[in-house]
Amino acid sequence: MEYRVGQKHQVIGIDYTHDGLGVAKIDGFTIFVQNLIIGEEAEVEITFVKKSFLVGKIVKLLKISPDRIQPLCPIATACGGCQFQHLDYKKELEYKKSKVIRAFHNIAKMDLEVDEVLGSDDPYHYRNKIIMPIGYDKRKNLIHGFYRYRSHEIVAMDQCYIEDKRSAPIIHTIKDLMKELAYDPYDEDTLKGDIRKIMIRTSYYYDEIMVVIITNKETLPDWDIFTKSLLQAHPEITTLIQNINLGETNVVLGNKEIVVSGSGKIKDKLCGLEFSISSKSFYQVNVKQTEKLYQKAIEIANLKIDETVLDAYSGIGTIGMILAKHVHKVIGVEVVRQAVNDAKHNALINDIKNIEFHEADAGDFILKLEEKRVKIDTVFVDPPRKGLDEKFISGLLKLKAKSIVYISCDPATLARDVALLSELYKVEKLVVVDMFSRTYHVESIVHLVLKRELEF
Ligand code: SAH
Repeated sequence: MEYRVGQKHQVIGIDYTHDGLGVAKIDGFTIFVQNLIIGEEAEVEITFVKKSFLVGKIVKLLKISPDRIQPLCPIATACGGCQFQHLDYKKELEYKKSKVIRAFHNIAKMDLEVDEVLGSDDPYHYRNKIIMPIGYDKRKNLIHGFYRYRSHEIVAMDQCYIEDKRSAPIIHTIKDLMKELAYDPYDEDTLKGDIRKIMIRTSYYYDEIMVVIITNKETLPDWDIFTKSLLQAHPEITTLIQNINLGETNVVLGNKEIVVSGSGKIKDKLCGLEFSISSKSFYQVNVKQTEKLYQKAIEIANLKIDETVLDAYSGIGTIGMILAKHVHKVIGVEVVRQAVNDAKHNALINDIKNIEFHEADAGDFILKLEEKRVKIDTVFVDPPRKGLDEKFISGLLKLKAKSIVYISCDPATLARDVALLSELYKVEKLVVVDMFSRTYHVESIVHLVLKRELEF
């Protein structure tokens, strides 16, 4: 049969994709349908035709799943931020578990069981960092919001139901001030405009808020009025930063920063320790779930007091510092200078003496450790989405630490890397942690144990 855009068909939801779309079949041919729940029957309209699959949208639900709930967010369907606002939270956790199992099955050719799924007590309003684009709608009204799925069209929002509630009023004031001062939002096509994006970080444990205005110019007229008015309207902002990004890039932050008010950092707590965080340093977005993640990772590592631990991709030093009291020594390595500086400062404020931080590429660093015959007992790795690179993996295989705790925000790269390490390591435990509730993203922890260690 020939499929065309606009055709309507009746389908049944049978599965979900790795990025949270419903999957159905039309005479055996795959169609992806946003928001279709497994078991539901729907009339769908084809919106996109490809050689091996179709994309469609729901026109009418004919049989509604008992797992369907009313989304809290009125723009949940249009906005590309969340994928599961319409699904019962327990089912979202089931999806996340199966997503990780499948990644291991398909990519690593390993059939693993998930030992635990750590769900969230509150899957809403958890995000402590937002990077918000601002733009014009068709009538040239200033709008803010996330992009529509797979597009660069902003879907106007009033507030976001997964971000900290303190962010939205600040964004609204910024938009009002932009209107008053005739500041244009950045246009990705023409590369013109005044303000590119707004980044807001909120502290979970303290009344602290960092606002970063990312400008497309070194200076803006009436900048003083803008910043003073913003701070006056929101005394809860404890530090305000101008970040200048003149690059033709979609990298959010530029190199140059001017601290307009406050210290240029905010502080927060994790597992009882205090952390100071700069704008460019990585910090997990969901504090409550991060505490569960770290506690679990440390528990399964089964650390001994005479051990030396490598905390690779250490960011501001969170994991290493939290586990430092259980071991003899911790060595952290991180590539972003601001983060390394934050980590060193954080070790001082928490009075942790058995930890050191190095600014380096983790791959280069681990090879050096191996050359110098530094004995590492346990390695914690927590890389970005792209996972570990070849250099780091070859370093790990040479280093032969007795155990590795791999924390990952992308099951696909995790499975790829674990397959490479399986030459020497065996998976002892797999835990799924819901850090990014209501979205398709999933965090997991894998505990790998050196095979030789298991034999003796
Ligand atoms: N463990 C920290 C940070 C994890 S995020 C935490 O839980 O908060 C991953 C970190 O890896 C980021 O801080 C990023 O800057 C760092 N990173 C990315 N590529 C790197 C590389 N090649 N070498 C070392 N660190 C790297």
